[in-house]
Amino acid sequence: MINYCTVADKNLSAPRQVIDNSQTLYEETTMRLILLGAPGAGKGTVAKLLTAVDGSVQISTGDILRAAVKEGTELGKQAKQFMDAGDLVPDQLIMGIMKERLKEDDCQAGFLLDGFPRTIPQAEQLKVLLADLGIELDAAVNLDVPRDVILDRLTTRRTCVDCSAIYNVKSAPTKVEGVCDKCGGKVVQRDDETEEAISKRLDVYNEKTAPLVDFYRREGLLMDVAATSSEAVVAAIRERTGG
Ligand code: ADP
Ligand code: ZN
Repeated sequence: MINYCTVADKNLSAPRQVIDNSQTLYEETTMRLILLGAPGAGKGTVAKLLTAVDGSVQISTGDILRAAVKEGTELGKQAKQFMDAGDLVPDQLIMGIMKERLKEDDCQAGFLLDGFPRTIPQAEQLKVLLADLGIELDAAVNLDVPRDVILDRLTTRRTCVDCSAIYNVKSAPTKVEGVCDKCGGKVVQRDDETEEAISKRLDVYNEKTAPLVDFYRREGLLMDVAATSSEAVVAAIRERTGG
């Protein structure tokens, strides 16, 4: 029924065909979600698990920014100082990125916003942007994790510089130290995952991002999930969204 293409077949038009052919499959299950939660709450891991199941796309502003820094683009140059200090990148820059990103074709199969919005102004501007695009959100999922768990997770977290795969020196180490299992890229501790930057990021989260929980509660979109394991979170989200 679905015309899966092989890797060799992959060209720009092929993935669209897959989406078109399986329209009936996606129609009922397309998910458009926001993932809320402190740094280290597991947004990235949950997003990767969910998108693997339903064919939606993970949009991580953190990944987009890190790629820009690595490539040394104008955006990267402007963002780096804020990121390394554990500060938020200005709303203006982020909204510029997201305006373009949400218009891309792959968003039609659903999307998961990971790390965006991060401030009330971003949430308000996103609301206007989605209304303009005629897109409706299904839910804003809040991953609730105790602070001590978060601190432990972040200091032991390691990230692949090439494919953004996430590892943990204690619970999910790479097979070969410092080398990505998936792509062979270098696996490192992020510049913003020193103790000092982490504690700054958690403060920034409490001050600027935590208010989004109430924002989305008022919008009638909030889904609170106790983030015990990533798998449990994924199961809860799928049950509640019918995904
Ligand atoms: P985490 O969720 O682990 O804190 P991210 O990968 O989402 O980290 O983001 C890393 C950094 O990128 C943030 O500390 C911040 O400087 C910047 N950033 C990412 N998304 C946003 C956003 N929506 N608004 C402002 N800054 C952002
Ligand atoms: Zn990798």
